[in-house]
Parts: sequence; structure tokens; C-alpha cells
Amino acid sequence: MTFDRHRRLAAGFVAAALALGSLAASAEPAAGGTGLRLYVLDCGAIHVADTARYELRREEVETDLLSVPCYLVHHPRGLLVWDTGAVPDAEWQPTGRPLVHRLTLPDGQSRDITLTRSLGAQLHDIGVEPSAVRFLALSHYHYDHTANAGLFAGATWLVRRVEREAMFQPTPPGTTRPQTYAALRGAPVTLLERDEHDVFGDGSVMIKSAPGHTPGHQVLLVRLARTGAVLLSGDLYHFPQERTLGRFPVFEFDREQTRRSRADIDAYLQRTGAILWIQHDAIANDRLRKAPDYYD
Ligand SMILES: [Zn+2]
Repeated sequence: MTFDRHRRLAAGFVAAALALGSLAASAEPAAGGTGLRLYVLDCGAIHVADTARYELRREEVETDLLSVPCYLVHHPRGLLVWDTGAVPDAEWQPTGRPLVHRLTLPDGQSRDITLTRSLGAQLHDIGVEPSAVRFLALSHYHYDHTANAGLFAGATWLVRRVEREAMFQPTPPGTTRPQTYAALRGAPVTLLERDEHDVFGDGSVMIKSAPGHTPGHQVLLVRLARTGAVLLSGDLYHFPQERTLGRFPVFEFDREQTRRSRADIDAYLQRTGAILWIQHDAIANDRLRKAPDYYD
């Protein structure tokens, strides 16, 4: 209790400090900490109409919701946003209560997505304006990860070459909404060529290649002082039962590559001691502290 209250107070202090303009670079690490924080933001939940898209029967999963978190990594050397939600802030109006938004994809498919708060408002609450974000990374190009990418077109985009090429090819890949990331075409970019990319140069935040779901799909390792190492899954899995029962979405770019990536990431979890956070696992995600609270 006391610890949580302390954490909330600390988060409030940081928000105030950030609002005063003494941004990330000046944040002093707490005693015993490294100054590294991971914020989990609520970017909605997708209602899955047909779990067969994941080779799962409805009775094999506990919920037919897929959470859609966005993440902010606060490092003393800057801010990184990881994934940007399913519905652009500009396309809906928060009411203060959860609402169901129907999204139509370019191929005519629709998705019902529960939304409560805009990404911009959640960032604002922790004292962060999108223009202050130094790095943007998306786990991959599907619509439910790119919605607000355009807010961060001033950041340096950390993307695999194959992923970027697929995103801007004349016929975009399925399950994408190219207008949501069109602004990234001219954004500063670092094309990631190696298996791992050390975002801040100190090994604490690593982007690792995990292709298969899309050609340049990637996952994010965050080594937190108190929480320990956390690996954000991207869409290596959606439902946790894909992992326990060995199932695969039917819409993988390359299913065999995903199989290899899953084995590779299992070994990586062993090696790093990280715990896997399956981003779309609504039940696990529900249990996480949300911004303005954070993990450190
Ligand atoms: Zn997804």
C-alpha cells in the first residue's frame, strides 16, 4: 500500500517536473534505480468476432477481447514510444466512459474496438507531448499498432528495412491502414539491420528482430531495475493459448518464420531472464498498472 502510494506520488512529481519543461534528460534516477521507466497506456481493446483466426476455438480462450496497449519508455537519454494503438485519436471523441468504435479496414472488414481515453490525453497526464518523443518503434505494421504513428513523425523511427519497404509498396499489405503511418514516409529513420538494436546505447532497451507475423516484426526488451527485465511481445502471440497450445494466426506473413522466431524468443527469455508480456493478452494486461503509474 505504502509502496504504491509512494509510487503514485513519485509519478505525480515526475509529471509536474516534466510539465515545467525539465524533460526526460534531466530526470534524476531515484536512489537505487536507473531512471528507466515503462508506462503502460490504454489504447483500447479489440472484440474478436472469430477466434478461428488464431486457430483457437472460443471455448479454448478465456476472453474474446484482445487488449491494445501502447507503451512509453522513459530513459534518462530520451523517450521511446512502442506501438500506437488501433484507432487514431483524431477519429473518435472520448466521453469519459468506454465506448465501442467500429473501424472499417481498407479491404472492407470491420472491427469493434472499445476505447476509453485518447493516447494524447494519457501522454499529457504524464507530462509528455508527442513532439518530445525521441524514438518511435512499432512492433509491426498492422492497423492496431500504427493508429497514432503520425503523432510521432518528428521522432526517429526505428524500423526494419523490409518492414518499411512493405509499408510503402504500391499495394500495401493486408490489415493495414496506410494513412495512419503516411507521415512516417518523411520521418527521420534508423533502418535496423542487426538482430538486436540497442536504443539508448547502454543495453537497457533493446529492439530484437522476431519476423514472421510480418516481414520485419520485432519485440522490445526493457531491463527495469526493480521490476526486472520485461519483453514486450508485439504480436508474436495474441492469445496466451497460442503459446501453450502451439497455435498460429491464420494470417501470418510467414508461419514457419514465426515458428522459428517463437523458439528464438524462448531462448532469448532464458538468456535475459526476462518475463514475456503478451501485449494482446487482455487478462494479463488488465492486471498491469496503467499510466500515469509506471514500472521501474
Ligand atoms: Zn496486433
